[in-house]
Amino acid sequence: MLNDRAIANAMRIQTRTARRNRLAIGCCPLHGCKMDQIDLWYETAMGNYTFVGCMYLNCEIEAMVDDEFSNYELAEKWLYLLEQTDQGSACVIHFPSYEEREARVRKKCFTK
Ligand SMILES: [Zn+2]
Repeated sequence: MLNDRAIANAMRIQTRTARRNRLAIGCCPLHGCKMDQIDLWYETAMGNYTFVGCMYLNCEIEAMVDDEFSNYELAEKWLYLLEQTDQGSACVIHFPSYEEREARVRKKCFTK
């Protein structure tokens, strides 16, 4: 398990290569922590796969993985994280906290 310092160090290096390397070993490309299985197994003629997700704070990044946990592929929504130039981008996405999401939902309900 990575400690906070290790995660902070990973978050400083956001080149495309660093992100790819983290994903290749099943870690969140942004945060560097191990992604855990978050879904059932899906069976296809091409093989079985499931989804894994980052457990860091409110991170929502998900990837698909085969049943040998050897090929990780970011969910389509997150593919752009690997499309940046190799100079990288130091910016790390701010995911809304549970409270922020709740507040947004509450606001939506009351403005109707
Ligand atoms: Zn993450």
